[in-house]
Parts: sequence; C-alpha cells; structure tokens
Amino acid sequence: LTGHLCISNLDFAYPGRKEEALSGISIDLRPGKMIGVLGRTGSGKSTLANLILRLYEIPERTIMIDGYDIRELPLAFLRRQIAYAPQDNFLFSTTLEENIRFFDDSYSLEQIRRAAGLADFDDTAMSFPDGYGTVVGERGMTLSGGQKQRVGLARALLRQTPLLILDDALSAVDTETEARILERLRNRLANSACLIIGNRISALRFCDEIIVLEDGRISERGNHDELLRNSGLYAAIARMQSEESSLPADGGGGL
Ligand code: ATP
Ligand code: MG
Repeated sequence: LTGHLCISNLDFAYPGRKEEALSGISIDLRPGKMIGVLGRTGSGKSTLANLILRLYEIPERTIMIDGYDIRELPLAFLRRQIAYAPQDNFLFSTTLEENIRFFDDSYSLEQIRRAAGLADFDDTAMSFPDGYGTVVGERGMTLSGGQKQRVGLARALLRQTPLLILDDALSAVDTETEARILERLRNRLANSACLIIGNRISALRFCDEIIVLEDGRISERGNHDELLRNSGLYAAIARMQSEESSLPADGGGGL
C-alpha cells in the first residue's frame, strides 16, 4: 500500500459508553505528507491512533487506506503497513540493537544505525562503551525518558512502513531536538504518510496540516499561519508556549 489514509466522518464511542470519544472526524493524509494533531488531554488523540490500528470496531467505510476499508484488510497485513510509536514504549532488558530491531533478524546493523540516526539516537548509542551492544533495562543501563522514546522511534522508523503514527512519542525529548527530528523526518520520509500527535507548536508548526481536537471534534484545521490567525485554541497554546520559552531571556521565544 502507499499509505494514503482517508478518514471520513468517523464517529466512535468506546464499548459500553454513551458519549462519543470522536465525532465527525475527516482527515485526508497523503503519502509524503505530515499531519499534526494537537489537543488537550482527553480530547481523543490516542483514540484516533488506536482506531487506525483497528484496536476497536469502527463503522464501515470510515477509515480507508488506499481505498480499502481497513475493516476488510487482514489485521496482520494492516498492522504491517503502520509503524506506531507511543509515548511510553516498552524496552526489553536486552541490547539496544535487539530493542530497535525488535527481534526481527532481517535488519542489518547498518539499517538499525540509519533508523537510530533519524531518531537522533545514533550518537547517543555510539557514546556508550558497548555501543548498540549496550544492555538496557533492569539488568543493564537505565535510559532517560527521552532516550527511551528515541529508541522507540528508531524501532518504528526501521520498518519503513507507508504510514507512520507518532502518539506523543517525543514528549520527553527537549523542544529543539523534537523539532529537529520532525523536520528531518519531513525531509527524508518522502514516501511515507505521517500522523504526528503532539503538544508543542514548535514541532507541529511545519506540518502540512494541523488538526486541533477538542472533546473528540475537530475544532480547527489549517497550517500554522492560518491557525495563528484563527485566534482559537491553537493560537492560545502558541501564545502560552512562546511566553514560556521566552521567560528566562526576552526575545528568545521559540516561535
Ligand atoms: P492524552 O493527551 O492525555 O494522551 P488523548 O487526547 O490521547 O489524551 P484519549 O486517550 O484518546 O485522549 O481519550 C479520549 C477520551 O476517551 C477520554 O475521555 C477517555 O477517558 C476516553 N477513553 C480512552 N480510552 C478509553 C477506553 N479504553 N475505554 C473507555 N474510554 C476511554
Ligand atoms: Mg493520548
């Protein structure tokens, strides 16, 4: 598949719940494009990611990939098309190399290093005495939250899937590194479609389109400049984050 994701008028309520977690969601994400999703906690961002992975049943013809209703694709096939990097990914107590290759021996160390490089982790790995052979987790080195997230991203990128979903996957990485990683993905992943869930304007501002979720609905959408002019939630968050980033020294705001 090429990864063309088309969501149309998706309504969804969790089993046994009356209120909808998502309502009227429509998104057209083409290969080579990056769409950002921003929203407060509980607004439905992870729900959206989970539904694309088909963790729950959805109405017919609401989520399509390359024109196929994802309900009609074999589950294993669908999930091979999608790389998903969550906020808290699980690291096994084994080497970095195994953690990134995820026990799939078909990848070479060179491919692993390339994926780690995209995730801004290659230099870090190489700075450890045992490099990619460094054992992490309970029986080895303890990684920081941001390092763990970058391992998780490298794991996702290694698979080179048509569709890439980052669900708050860089929240523990510093602002500048996050922006640099996403900028690099935008330039290098010319054929993948990327859905980037995040909360930092500095990272999402370069997306082709940004979708703002409020209570399961799309309240605004557009590019960075359009959304700033909207004076909605996006502009409010942008203003707040620019004040935060310019607190210590004036005029240094990241926006
Ligand atoms: P955050 O920024 O905190 O990750 P989010 O935008 O990802 O938030 P979701 O996890 O998608 O939010 O949750 C959206 C809504 O759906 C919330 O009201 C949440 O309580 C509800 N919800 C999430 N998962 C389930 C579940 N498994 N069963 C029932 N309700 C759920
Ligand atoms: Mg979430």
